[in-house]
Amino acid sequence: MDTPENIYVTKSFLPPIEDYETYIRQIYDNGILTNQGPLLQELEKKLQKFLDIDNLQYVSNGTIALQLALKALEIDDGEIITTPFSYVATTSSILWERCTPVFVDIEPNNFTIDANKIEAAITSDTKAIMPVHVFGYACDVEKIEQIAKQHNLKVIYDAAHAFGSRYNGKSLVSYGDISTLSFHATKLFHTIEGGACIVNCGNETAKHLDLCKRFGHNCDEHYTLGINGKQSEFNAAMGLANFPHIDEIIHERKRVCDAYDAKLKAIVQRPKTQQGLDYNYAYYPVVFKDENQLLNVFAALNAEHIFPRRYFYPSLNTLPYLKNKMSCPVSEDICSRIACLPLYPTLSDSDITRICDIILSQLS
Ligand SMILES: *Cc1c(COP(=O)(O)O)cnc(C)c1O
Repeated sequence: MDTPENIYVTKSFLPPIEDYETYIRQIYDNGILTNQGPLLQELEKKLQKFLDIDNLQYVSNGTIALQLALKALEIDDGEIITTPFSYVATTSSILWERCTPVFVDIEPNNFTIDANKIEAAITSDTKAIMPVHVFGYACDVEKIEQIAKQHNLKVIYDAAHAFGSRYNGKSLVSYGDISTLSFHATKLFHTIEGGACIVNCGNETAKHLDLCKRFGHNCDEHYTLGINGKQSEFNAAMGLANFPHIDEIIHERKRVCDAYDAKLKAIVQRPKTQQGLDYNYAYYPVVFKDENQLLNVFAALNAEHIFPRRYFYPSLNTLPYLKNKMSCPVSEDICSRIACLPLYPTLSDSDITRICDIILSQLS
């Protein structure tokens, strides 16, 4: 008998190869490989329209997008209030920019930063708040905006999971001074590698960020310290080939989530989505009773060649290279027993049933 194909937590969407080829041919014809070429500009325009925002700058990845956001807002020291429940890049980008992450615990309903605990963490050194719309769920954007105004802080949303999520009729990336996206191959919409900064705080910052991402100069005139955050035409080509499939990708992801819900919702703990959220179905996290139960479920699934992932583990406030240890009990508890199940458009109904049955067999 054939061994079954491995099922991973995600599987990158690939557009019809002919569509990709059409764009690659354009690159061969015009000879422009990078440096804000025509395909990149076309992709930026399409994404701006799709997300209903004014300034989207396509950059080389979602991590450099966070670092550029800090640079563009001229934050190069001080404290950044952030969440311990995210991918490591949220914290590492703060540290890499020589700022200090200050972790505020998450709220247990949807695992985003607990906005009611932010003010207690503000000091005279606080420069910004960097929350994450984790799994595509919306942070308490109103409360965070109000706190930021009152204390004169910048807000940078790591919106790497939020592509396509809308809140109160607006794209989630339209909140904050700057929101950042990742278009990594594992994300809902991808360009193999890639990311974006969405600048919502005006033209000056947008222009500054644009300079920062291409070495800080125009021709022979050098204006500011820069870095190379540019993205290639080949990556933009993948984005353009994937772009027409966004609605279908989200639709199929919803099918998978609905099928999981039908079998699991009454039995495992799931995040509560807030009113007004139009969800993008980016992830399907489940919270087990304890770490032991999670490990048993993983062992049973792995034996059947199914590989969910511990998103997120460990809680970022416990990273070994942090100088100050802070306690975030809610995040540490959730991290010990949360996992994301396989979720991608071509996951079949029979595989979903199989995954659910294996999980359920371990829960009694
Ligand atoms: C993927 C991800 C990033 C990093 O994006 P890259 O494009 O891989 O650099 C940052 N933050 C979060 C929450 C992510 O999931």
